[in-house]
Amino acid sequence: MAKRDYYEVLGVARTASEGEIKKAYRKLAMKYHPDRNPDNKEAEDNFKEASEAYEVLSDSQKRATYDQFGHAGLEGHAGGGHGGFGGGFGDAFGDIFSEMFGGGFGGRRGPQPGNDLQYELEISLEEAVAGTTVDIRIPTKDICDACDGTGAEPGSEVQTCPTCHGAGQVRMQQGFFAVNRSCPTCHGQGKIIKTPCRKCRGEGFTHSNKTLSVKIPAGVDNGDRIRLQGEGEAGEPGAPRGDLYVRIRVKRHAIFERDGNNLYCELPLSFPTAALGGSVEVPTLGGKASLKVPAGTQSGQRFKLAGKGVKSVRSSFVGDLIVQVNIETPVKLTARQKELLEELEASLKGKHYKQHSPKEHSFFDSVKSFFTGEDEADKDAKKDKNDPWND
Ligand SMILES: [Zn+2]
Ligand SMILES: [Zn+2]
Repeated sequence: MAKRDYYEVLGVARTASEGEIKKAYRKLAMKYHPDRNPDNKEAEDNFKEASEAYEVLSDSQKRATYDQFGHAGLEGHAGGGHGGFGGGFGDAFGDIFSEMFGGGFGGRRGPQPGNDLQYELEISLEEAVAGTTVDIRIPTKDICDACDGTGAEPGSEVQTCPTCHGAGQVRMQQGFFAVNRSCPTCHGQGKIIKTPCRKCRGEGFTHSNKTLSVKIPAGVDNGDRIRLQGEGEAGEPGAPRGDLYVRIRVKRHAIFERDGNNLYCELPLSFPTAALGGSVEVPTLGGKASLKVPAGTQSGQRFKLAGKGVKSVRSSFVGDLIVQVNIETPVKLTARQKELLEELEASLKGKHYKQHSPKEHSFFDSVKSFFTGEDEADKDAKKDKNDPWND
């Protein structure tokens, strides 16, 4: 079944404020809450639908994604992810239900898995291309070995909560509602610690740092993430550890720029070499290579060195090195060099000007007709034999 628009579900305008969204959801939640509609499948569906809409629209980031991409934008993030009622709701609902029912919603939660960690790792282009192994130092949160995560000093008494008898939740009657709420005495833990563990100060976890050796595969690129399963923070006893994500940032390279599997570089080329052609040395990540430049090479022209790019991290495909030629105008000339160039210039502007400098020739042709207002046909008809622009 196609999902209804979240704004439509809550009955609010797309421009609705946070307050309006909250108010609209509270009204629907009161109306359709399962505790108020026992064994009513339709009410339950309506409640779920409204809760899902609220979960997205009350979160500015999710709301922005939804506004831009609709339901598709949230796939895998929201949508029917609540494991029934009485637990598993995100923070978004906490305050609403505490307002409605005067206490935390839900009872004792299961052991919470550990948080994921993210580490930004900056590497050079060479390292990204060839792969490397890097030692990183990360904060680590582990279950306290003194108390095994209970938070109670070893040997001390842990009392079962007298209010909830260890259940972590109590059933409250409020008007029409009979709801389970988190036990106010033990905050849902079901037990009361008399003497907190000295090592972890009752937290159940200890914090330190550890060094991890991370293998970076050849071909990784900016923004790639390497997942190290179970290297995140410890979860509560009985729950899995989080993961560690190493996010790659590749430093700018002095010579090469990377785009996907291709590398790009600029190659300064002397004017005589560009004109005469020749073999030039170009840098590659694997060392020097030779590039044959044809006679008459122009500035900005690109040459491809096949297979001198980057090997893809996901396949055996290797990209190319694209060399862009930049012709360097000679500077600080000696008298003799000036003389040679003047001689060359005179020779180029001679009888075969059009042939030696086709671009310059046609450009000045266009400029001339632009100023005289003549079109090409007129101009050809009136070609002046003494015109220095003509052959
Ligand atoms: Zn401890
Ligand atoms: Zn309790």
